[in-house]
Amino acid sequence: MRHLVWFRSDLRVADNPALSAAADGAQVSAIYIDCLPQWQQHGRSAIQRDFLSRHLQTLNEQLADLGIAFTVLSADSFAEVPELLANWLAEHPHDALYANREIAIDERRRDKAVQQRLKDVLEIRVFNGDCVFNHASLTTQSGAMYKVFTPFAKSWLAQLRQNGYQLHAVPKAQGKTVQASAIELLGERVSSAAWPVGEQEALERLRLFCESGLYDYGERRDFPAIIGTSSLSPYLALGVISPQQCLAAIEQQLGHLPLSRGEQGFVWLNELIWREFYRHLLVAFPHLSMNRAFKPETEALQWSQDSTDFEAWCCGQTGYPIVDAAMRCLNTTGWMHNRLRMIVASFLTKDLHLSWRQGEDYFMSRLIDGELAANNGGWQWAAGTGADAAPYFRVFNPTTQGERFDTKGDFIRQWVPELKAVPAKHIHTPHEWLTCHQRGHGYPKPIVDHKRARIHAIAMFNALKETPSAADSQPYLTDALADKQSELWLSHLEQEDL
Ligand SMILES: Cc1cc2nc3c(=O)[nH]c(=O)nc-3n(C[C@H](O)[C@H](O)[C@H](O)COP(=O)(O)OP(=O)(O)OC[C@H]3O[C@@H](n4cnc5c(N)ncnc54)[C@H](O)[C@@H]3O)c2cc1C
Repeated sequence: MRHLVWFRSDLRVADNPALSAAADGAQVSAIYIDCLPQWQQHGRSAIQRDFLSRHLQTLNEQLADLGIAFTVLSADSFAEVPELLANWLAEHPHDALYANREIAIDERRRDKAVQQRLKDVLEIRVFNGDCVFNHASLTTQSGAMYKVFTPFAKSWLAQLRQNGYQLHAVPKAQGKTVQASAIELLGERVSSAAWPVGEQEALERLRLFCESGLYDYGERRDFPAIIGTSSLSPYLALGVISPQQCLAAIEQQLGHLPLSRGEQGFVWLNELIWREFYRHLLVAFPHLSMNRAFKPETEALQWSQDSTDFEAWCCGQTGYPIVDAAMRCLNTTGWMHNRLRMIVASFLTKDLHLSWRQGEDYFMSRLIDGELAANNGGWQWAAGTGADAAPYFRVFNPTTQGERFDTKGDFIRQWVPELKAVPAKHIHTPHEWLTCHQRGHGYPKPIVDHKRARIHAIAMFNALKETPSAADSQPYLTDALADKQSELWLSHLEQEDL
């Protein structure tokens, strides 16, 4: 038997359900299909592409050691993929195709088309490789997806208590090693060299984090000037490590899994559940992949169109030090701390009144860990348009956020050189000090008055209540419809793939 494994967002050999199943008693080969135009259409960043390209090379070498030949094909669009695969398979016959599911709508449509095109050519088997539990398996009693995090998390934890989690071993080497040829993807390059590549690197990073960072994660995770989080997101986004491997590392370190609030290590595990929540949501509510607000009534919000404000936000020139430091850090490194993501997202939507879609796109174009589910979830959370979003009247104050989470201004000084000399006492509102002590400093005045902006943001949301037609004008997703739709999608998922 000859089995073909199609790698996608699962660039690992350990705990890879598709690879593991394919290798069971069969000769395996592997492919990756690069689709640069689709990558660009999805607005994904050049730094992530560079990271991907480097990972593919290490994956290629790992597979070669296992005796698995790896081929990279290119397509101009997802629409070409079924024919491309059919032609390749005509020259390289296989008995079955194995893959782990991708969850965004374009990828699912591509896979459906592949299934249609190849169903008479070979057997196709799809697995869940990106979440601890299968996407359709955590539902309310009526079979719909949870729309609020806490009950989802409870159900997730109950499932973990009851069934545990499964890890898939690296397949045994099959015969002789094969020659790995060089792989480099085309496209605009932004070096990702600051992030070491490879599964072993990622696993070592995970191990080190669990050894030293897990215990006081809850106390340290909100301070961007220190390394208080795992920095594993770029690896999880490309599937270089799996969430199950994260659970195993926690268990290895603590001797057990912390399954209740208050237990050591639980706060970090809870973040992994947020990751799963957003991924399960994306599967159950495909309109999230289509640029739509989770809460339909919020489609009627009157977002600002001010391109100057947007430009100032992107470049880190808003006059709010913590916002500017965060954006400049993102622009330089391709990564941003979670607390800062929340601050800048709140600032864009609630202070500048610009649409979350602009922020979501900008993040995607810059982040090394950009992935649709978490990015869309994070943005809609901050904007007040998402599932279990921050209440619309809770507006982050960028100055007090800076004071709380970068008290002495160490992070700000690292990224905003104009503020290097500003004493800690003035670092979050530096303008008066700069005027007195640093002529020609070049740091902008605040582009918006936070107090007034906050009142305006709340008024924008209040206006929705006064226009009952706002929700009616967006009939694509009433609550009842959302439940029905999620049930339908989840049942399709079962038929489609398993
Ligand atoms: C506006 C906004 C946009 C975001 N965009 C992305 C994105 O494109 N890609 C991405 O991976 N994360 C995104 N996040 C979530 C979060 O900021 C990052 O996952 C986190 O900062 C990564 O750092 P870490 O690996 O050190 O996380 P840790 O704190 O060590 O957490 C461990 C892992 O849990 C997951 N995780 C943690 N927090 C969240 C969260 N709030 N939502 C979903 N998953 C989470 C990530 O996979 C992370 O690597 C976004 C958050 C916001 C508010």
